[in-house]
Amino acid sequence: DELISQIAAGEVVERPASVVRELVDNALDAGANQITVRLAAGGVRLIAVEDDGGGIPRDELPLALRRHATSKIASLAELESVGTMGFRGEALASIASIAELSLLSRHGGADSAWQLDARTGELRPAARSQGTTVEVRELFFATPARRKFLKTDATELAHCIEAVRRHALARPDVGFAIWHEGRLVEQWRIADTPAQRLSDVFGEDFIGQSVQVDHDEGALHVRGHAGVPDAARSRGDQQFFYVNGRFVRDKVLLHAVRAAYEDVLHGQRQPVFVLHLQIDPTRVDVNVHPTKIEVRFRDGREVHSAVRHAIENALAAPRA
Ligand code: ADP
Ligand code: MG
Repeated sequence: DELISQIAAGEVVERPASVVRELVDNALDAGANQITVRLAAGGVRLIAVEDDGGGIPRDELPLALRRHATSKIASLAELESVGTMGFRGEALASIASIAELSLLSRHGGADSAWQLDARTGELRPAARSQGTTVEVRELFFATPARRKFLKTDATELAHCIEAVRRHALARPDVGFAIWHEGRLVEQWRIADTPAQRLSDVFGEDFIGQSVQVDHDEGALHVRGHAGVPDAARSRGDQQFFYVNGRFVRDKVLLHAVRAAYEDVLHGQRQPVFVLHLQIDPTRVDVNVHPTKIEVRFRDGREVHSAVRHAIENALAAPRA
């Protein structure tokens, strides 16, 4: 079972940023308003994610570490329409098999917090306010070959920040802070509007250099912001797609955006965009890969058409 966990972990956890993503997913699923990520050595030495969500009851702490134990989906049928970020119930179990993991949590209404050490199974009373802290230390300690593939601390840190940024762009209603080696490296306070969060993340001038996207086509809804073609800030690393709130990479979506920009960009630059696609969950399969970063649309053409038209309309509209 340990081996199975380690193999599964290999698919889910490529680098510290993968752990950060899973833990922040969990914090969001728990209804957190504020999420703090603490890192040491680019996340290899330490990744601690602290939230003020609902917490985990004492008796359920051991269950949270069990493989395929998830509190989020009760049946296979529900897999069709997952609303939460997590649903496979393998992230914590996988991470615990390749690192030292501890869970510290205080459930809403409980009069104390409890800490579970994954390695020893020891459960002891602890102190904290409502919410959960997951601590992951010495990632890949048991798989040195894997550890050798990691880049410098600075590079791993950059990937960790990127993982949090992806969440931050989708959840302006949640505050995020990232600490590295005791230093605050990024902070996005709870924003009143999605546009506010965008300018917090990309800089004040972002809104002025982008158009608002808001388009319905059939049952599809596309909204967000897309950079105006002449903006000097155009960069390929600022392209963010979300499908039902989940960050994804997808060729169909990217192609649709490129097609919309074709006439105005002449293929010269990469447009900047943050786009949210809302689609009937039964028309998209998010269970393609353990990292959940890929999706498969039931009808790629309708998605392509909606995204392309959304951008074309936004670029064509007179700017305020
Ligand atoms: P999944 O997210 O797919 O359910 P995980 O392995 O990521 O699987 O987490 C296992 C379970 O642990 C979750 O279903 C949830 O019940 C609990 N859990 C994990 N992290 C948190 C958290 N930050 N707050 C509350 N519960 C959590
Ligand atoms: Mg999860």
